[in-house]
Amino acid sequence: MRLVLLGPPGAGKGTQGDLLADRLGIPKISTGDLFRANIAAETPLGLEAKQYMDAGNLVPSDVTNRMVESRIAEPDAAKGFILDGFPRTVDQAEALEKMLDEHEQPLNAVVSLEVPEDLVVERMLARGREDDTEDVIRNRMRVYRAETEPLLVHYDGLIVTVDGVGEVESVNNRIVAALGH
Ligand code: ADP
Repeated sequence: MRLVLLGPPGAGKGTQGDLLADRLGIPKISTGDLFRANIAAETPLGLEAKQYMDAGNLVPSDVTNRMVESRIAEPDAAKGFILDGFPRTVDQAEALEKMLDEHEQPLNAVVSLEVPEDLVVERMLARGREDDTEDVIRNRMRVYRAETEPLLVHYDGLIVTVDGVGEVESVNNRIVAALGH
C-alpha cells in the first residue's frame, strides 16, 4: 500500500500517519520529521531547511525530493509507505511519479484530510511547535492554498476524502474504512 496524506498544516496528518503505519505495518515517511531530525543533528541539510521552515516557507524541491528519494529506497519502504507532508507542490508530485515509475510502484490512494481553517489554526496554536506562531502559521496556510491545494485536482482520480474533525480514533477508523480495509 502506497499512500499520500494530504491536508492543510495542522490537519492531523502526522498523528493519523503514525496510527495508519501501525495498522498497515508500513513506515510513515514525514518530510517535516526528516527535516527536524536533520536540524537536531545539525547536518548541512538541516541548516539549510531551518531557514525556510522558521519562516513557514517550503524548503526547495530539489533538496526535498532527493531526501525523499533516498528514504523510499530504504528496505522497509519496499512493501509500501505513507507519505506525510510530501508532495506539497505539483512539481514534487511529478518528481514522485518519476521515482515510483522507475520501480513500477504507483500510488494506491491519496487521502485528503478535511479540517476547517479556524480549527487547524487552533490546533497548531495549542501544539506550540517552534514554527507554530501566528505569523508563521498564517504564511504556511497561504503557501498551502497556493502550492499544495492544487494537488487535489492533480490527484483527482486517486483522492479519498475523509472528514478530519473529531476524535483521533474516529478519524483513523474513517480513513481505514474509506480505504476499504
Ligand atoms: P505541518 O503539516 O504542520 O505544516 P510539517 O512538519 O509537515 O508541518 O512541515 C513543517 C515545515 O517543513 C513546512 O512548513 C516546510 O517548511 C517544511 N516542509 C515539510 N515538507 C515539505 C515539502 N514536501 N517541501 C518543502 N518543504 C517542506
